[in-house]
Amino acid sequence: MPYVVLARRGRPQLFSNVVGQEHVIKTLQNAILSNRIAHAYLFTGPRGVGKTTVARLFAKAINCKNRSDSEPCNVCNSCIEISSGRSIDIIEIDAASNRGIDEIRELRENVKFAPVSVEYKVYIIDEAHMLTPEAFNALLKTLEEPPHHVVFILATTEPHKIPMTILSRCQRFDFRMLTQSQIVKRLKELLALDEIQVDDESLSLIAENADGALRDAESMLDQVLSFSNGELNTDKVSEFLGLGSYRLLDNLMESIIKQDSVKSLETLNSLASYGADLPQCLKKLVTYFRDLLVYKNNPALIDASETKLNRLAEFSKSISTERLMKIVKLLIQTESDIKQLGYERLNFELALIKLARLKDDVIPLDKILVKLEDIESKIYSGIPEPTAEKPEIINKISTPIETFEEKNEIIEIDKQDPLKAKWIDILKSIKTKCPPALHAVLKEAYIVSIDDATITIDFDNKYKWHREQTSDPANLKILENALSEIMGKPMKFSIQSNNTSKSEEKDEIPTSQRDMRLDVLQDETVKMVLDIFNGRIVDVKK
Ligand SMILES: [Zn+2]
Repeated sequence: MPYVVLARRGRPQLFSNVVGQEHVIKTLQNAILSNRIAHAYLFTGPRGVGKTTVARLFAKAINCKNRSDSEPCNVCNSCIEISSGRSIDIIEIDAASNRGIDEIRELRENVKFAPVSVEYKVYIIDEAHMLTPEAFNALLKTLEEPPHHVVFILATTEPHKIPMTILSRCQRFDFRMLTQSQIVKRLKELLALDEIQVDDESLSLIAENADGALRDAESMLDQVLSFSNGELNTDKVSEFLGLGSYRLLDNLMESIIKQDSVKSLETLNSLASYGADLPQCLKKLVTYFRDLLVYKNNPALIDASETKLNRLAEFSKSISTERLMKIVKLLIQTESDIKQLGYERLNFELALIKLARLKDDVIPLDKILVKLEDIESKIYSGIPEPTAEKPEIINKISTPIETFEEKNEIIEIDKQDPLKAKWIDILKSIKTKCPPALHAVLKEAYIVSIDDATITIDFDNKYKWHREQTSDPANLKILENALSEIMGKPMKFSIQSNNTSKSEEKDEIPTSQRDMRLDVLQDETVKMVLDIFNGRIVDVKK
């Protein structure tokens, strides 16, 4: 018995054997059951996902006299002839091979003749988008007045290249790319036919390289089986795919994550001596790190074997999204460098060294958010940010002037606010030189301006009593003496007059808008956010 490749032997003979495409199968089965067969169908979708397989199955099912529900019996003459490809009433045209000119001409001549041995003559036109304009025209003529015994099934990967006049006469079905687990499941079924045992990891590796095309995965499996003399494992598959060794690639990924350039270079060396195709390995790394990036942000989107998922989970703990983005970017850049400049190994090595030096210099967004929430809760609970401990940082930052308009008043405050830092310093020193009660009163003031001889301060309306206490001449004298002592020169306090323009509601706000802004502006994270987005604070809400 001649060797029949696995994929052909295992070709689905029933709708229920088709992998994936449930939405298509269900609609076609309903059409069969209700006997509403259209004259033209368009099967679109990526290559190798089952378009022609389903077309042949459909041709068989609509012609089977002993159907059970919508499934063909596979034992009647018609079924056997169609399954073996011997039926003269099922005509397959490959539009890619000669653009279909002769076939379509022949089709036009023969289409009017009734089928010989079955009910429906079925024309399956594969790669239909490759037909010439003349062939499309001829086809259109037939589709305009189709004989009742004819069914056309056009299969294409590029439906946009099919003329509208044809499209509008077809029932369209969109086939989807298959998931890795669907492909692995199918490969297992095929292997079971020959009672061959292969581990899931190897099958996943094949599925991964098939990019959602079952046909590619099936023929890859066939080739790997011959290549490995039936002894199939991940290393054999990797070797076949030009990836050297699966284990080595995994090691390489790990050493990149650990930023261990010594180990990375050693592993690359081993891969090269394995005879691995380095650009292919690089491509694989891009895929792996892309998967890791997606996994880190939404694990549900990754369709992979359990072993790989566990590995991704492990890796994702020790690397930030930001570094992953940089890694993917750098690897893609290296791929393009190799394409343009050559020097595969050198460019690969350079990339590995660069990857080991990457720094997480960006604070991850999730950390910024946590910090912001923290600030928010502090504002809410009325605990001020510990700004006094950071004056040296504040002083280093350039200080552009921001103007905020708040109802009737305009307050000029510095974006980074060294003024407030200064005020906090002064308050600290005053604490040691005046009665604690007086310091506590003054603490509720905010600074407006400072010059050679005067510090102008103000109080919010809710601190009316504090304002009065500070304005009391006896108290003011004590405070000014302390201030002068600290500053080493005579200084006075100027307390701004009570601002009556503030509304009653505003009085009830525990901390004023402005104070909250000042507090928020002191925070390093907020500064960074303002810096990143080139923004300013418009409002602070609790
Ligand atoms: Zn049958």
